[in-house]
Amino acid sequence: MADDPSATRGTALVLLTRDLRVHDHPALVAAAGARRLVVAFALDPTILDTPYAAPNRLRMLLDALADVRSALRDLGSDLTVVRGTAEQVVGDLVAAHGVTHVHCSADLSAFARRREAALAAVATAHGATFTAHPGVMLVDPGLVRATGGGHFKVFTPYWRRWSQVTPRPVLGVPDLPPPPDDLASTPLPELTELTDGTPAPLLTAGGETAARERLAWWMDGPIDDYADGRNRMAEDATSRLSGALHLGCLSVTEVAAGLDPRRPGHEAFLQELCWRDFNHQLLDARPDLAVNDVRTKDDRWRDAPDELAAWQEGRTGYPIVDAGMRQLVAEGWMHNRARMVTASFLTKHLYVDWRHGARFFMWHLADGDLANNYAQWQWTAGTGTDSRPNRMFNPVVQGERYDPDGAYVRRWVPELAAIEGKAVHQPRDTVVAATPGLFAAGPAVEDGYPEPIVDHRDARDRFLRARGALED
Ligand SMILES: Cc1cc2nc3c(=O)[nH]c(=O)nc-3n(C[C@H](O)[C@H](O)[C@H](O)COP(=O)(O)OP(=O)(O)OC[C@H]3O[C@@H](n4cnc5c(N)ncnc54)[C@H](O)[C@@H]3O)c2cc1C
Repeated sequence: MADDPSATRGTALVLLTRDLRVHDHPALVAAAGARRLVVAFALDPTILDTPYAAPNRLRMLLDALADVRSALRDLGSDLTVVRGTAEQVVGDLVAAHGVTHVHCSADLSAFARRREAALAAVATAHGATFTAHPGVMLVDPGLVRATGGGHFKVFTPYWRRWSQVTPRPVLGVPDLPPPPDDLASTPLPELTELTDGTPAPLLTAGGETAARERLAWWMDGPIDDYADGRNRMAEDATSRLSGALHLGCLSVTEVAAGLDPRRPGHEAFLQELCWRDFNHQLLDARPDLAVNDVRTKDDRWRDAPDELAAWQEGRTGYPIVDAGMRQLVAEGWMHNRARMVTASFLTKHLYVDWRHGARFFMWHLADGDLANNYAQWQWTAGTGTDSRPNRMFNPVVQGERYDPDGAYVRRWVPELAAIEGKAVHQPRDTVVAATPGLFAAGPAVEDGYPEPIVDHRDARDRFLRARGALED
């Protein structure tokens, strides 16, 4: 470590952001040679005072902070959690403890880039150096450029180019130097100090320890069936690691290093990790991804608050859509196939602006992620990177194909629990005569199941006409 200034120049500081782990952590490893080390997390009011700080993700964040603090203590270090913007917190700690080198993990959003510039400025002002390390992406956008040098707009060529890049090596867990003697221990806040909201009743635990246990389970067998299983909505057949990957409780580099792409399940899984990078390189090129169409279709979206509410509450009368929306609210997570079907339904069947749906997802998803959520919403709405922007998912066909026994719908839509098999996807056709009273006249019912709020064929015609894609 003789060349590393932190090794010889006293006190280092690592600001954790969404890299809440001790395994494979380049910034921590770089700081490990210092004589003293401050590891800090800023509870930043410019995030906490926005809807981005939703109860489910705050719960996950607090779990992750508690877990990483415990791991850091086991390594001889500690975690300092302070309220304030990143630059305020770092500026105060640098000044108080004579920090000579500041480290963090590089990230891609406009907010993260501004934060890195501010940290560099604050470090320089105190005579310290600043380094942003890799650790959030598998392949940083600068390493994969389209012909001509820009970002990729289509996934398949990106995947081909991305697959040729050799990722950085996975790093071990370092022994860490102790904190400065005069660094006071800080308590973690309670959830109620950060939000008035309540997390989803079935939210799973966050943090590196739980994520590593889930990863071990996943790699020990279930992943082998991923190529087929990933679409079976009723089964526990995907990794459910998205929340951990979002907060960096797992290193995506370490996850990928455990894969053998010659095995079908492994290759399919690697491709999803590639989608994560693809969406982030899009955010890198389009910092306005959450606000503006990537490729506008000049949509004149419908203003339909009652239909939006029916979608949000899982009472559209389309069982697979309603099951997905209810899973989202109950678990803070939704199966990927259900995310595609529900998002398509809102933006194409109801022809309601994708921004309404994306915001609702962001409020509820424990894995809610600026790049993935908004890129996928725009993909589904046909304003993003889908090369077939006017494709519509038929919710009945999707249900029959990916929930063939109907178990997913029966789990989340108890009103339909008595209907056996795939008939649950078209309940009116099969049981309306046999079960008088099951269906009510409109969507606003209390104990029945609503009629579809829109006819599939009418909705399809309306959407394609709006997009100028329907032959009259
Ligand atoms: C409308 C919509 C919104 C979405 N919003 C988010 C979001 O906010 N955060 C998020 O992480 N994913 C989002 N996704 C992508 C995907 O649905 C989730 O990553 C996945 O369902 C998480 O479950 P899993 O961990 O079991 O995934 P797995 O199937 O086990 O996949 C492994 C990992 O690959 C990544 N991944 C999988 N699919 C995608 C994808 N399509 N795009 C980018 N990364 C992917 C995730 O990190 C995931 O954990 C969204 C998809 C749609 C259609």
